[in-house]
Amino acid sequence: MPDLVSQSETSSAEPLLEVGELRKYFPIRRGFFKRIVGHVKAVDNVDLYVREGETLGLVGESGCGKTTTGRCILRAIEPTSGQILFRDPTLGRVDISQLDKEQVRLVRHNIRMIFQDPYASLNPRMTLLDIVGAPLRAMGIAHGKELEERVAEMLQLVGLRPEYMRRYPHAFSGGQRQRIGLAHALAPYPKFVVCDEPVSALDVSVQAQILNLLKDLQEQMGLTYLFVAHDLSVVAHISDRVAVMYVGKIVELASTAELFSSPKHPYTEALMSAIPIPDPRPREKRILLTGEVANPANPPSGCYFHPRCTYAKDICKVEEPQFEEAAPGHYVKCHFGRELDLTGAVRVSL
Ligand code: SF4
Repeated sequence: MPDLVSQSETSSAEPLLEVGELRKYFPIRRGFFKRIVGHVKAVDNVDLYVREGETLGLVGESGCGKTTTGRCILRAIEPTSGQILFRDPTLGRVDISQLDKEQVRLVRHNIRMIFQDPYASLNPRMTLLDIVGAPLRAMGIAHGKELEERVAEMLQLVGLRPEYMRRYPHAFSGGQRQRIGLAHALAPYPKFVVCDEPVSALDVSVQAQILNLLKDLQEQMGLTYLFVAHDLSVVAHISDRVAVMYVGKIVELASTAELFSSPKHPYTEALMSAIPIPDPRPREKRILLTGEVANPANPPSGCYFHPRCTYAKDICKVEEPQFEEAAPGHYVKCHFGRELDLTGAVRVSL
């Protein structure tokens, strides 16, 4: 597992989570006997770490493997291979990929997930008391009066009135439902939260409220986030560092300020040029990506991005670039990451 925790970085906080050479391949089966004829490489050799108290944004187009990475970390799906090292307050430093069923249950006190769709993720037949109290009951954390008090506390924390606890989800708006989702995820007081596109199903006017609430809760509860999203402006608003994914691989990773001011991967530059800006004047340079996203079941040779890259040279078609530190704490997977002078973006506030 490559040492990604750069010596040159100033932050002293220890990584809470370290993912090394993580792979998730889905088999493709064909024919009467359902023989395996290939694999979809949804996550292919991903390395990342998240320090205690920070937010790492994981961004990329739909289908690039970012949600699958989050689900592997939670063991909601089984990774094909790789390490997922986590400093659990009860179990100590564990490799989540190697835990048995009972240990996974224990570790899920401390690693939780916030889902994308607040309409589909809440059971319409359960009251808020049942929804928010479910993980507390299942984990044996609280029962009876104590459980009600904890649910009331969680509802208050996410900005809902405790008197609502006997109501059903249909009585709430999209933003309020996502608040219920937050209360459900955070009820066991976790350490680490995978936020899977938590605002992409919400109106723009509500997105900033939920993002600010996530920031406040992070401070109050000492949370660490892996924030999965396809929208760079949302990621910029909340993340300390950002990892950019393309076809199952991380192609760039840097602090948010550094990534936005001087991207080093052509794919990141193209994503940034697509961020809408509230300025009617035409921008200097807009990069329209041509061609299809590479097929993870049959990716191109060399650099996966070469059929769409305007900077591609002959070497890009035959040799896969390494993921290397191009500047302190700034990693890039491009043969020319140190040389290219790419255009960044202004950080857009929501
Ligand atoms: Fe483009 Fe080549 Fe860099 Fe890939 S390695 S991003 S094709 S310049």
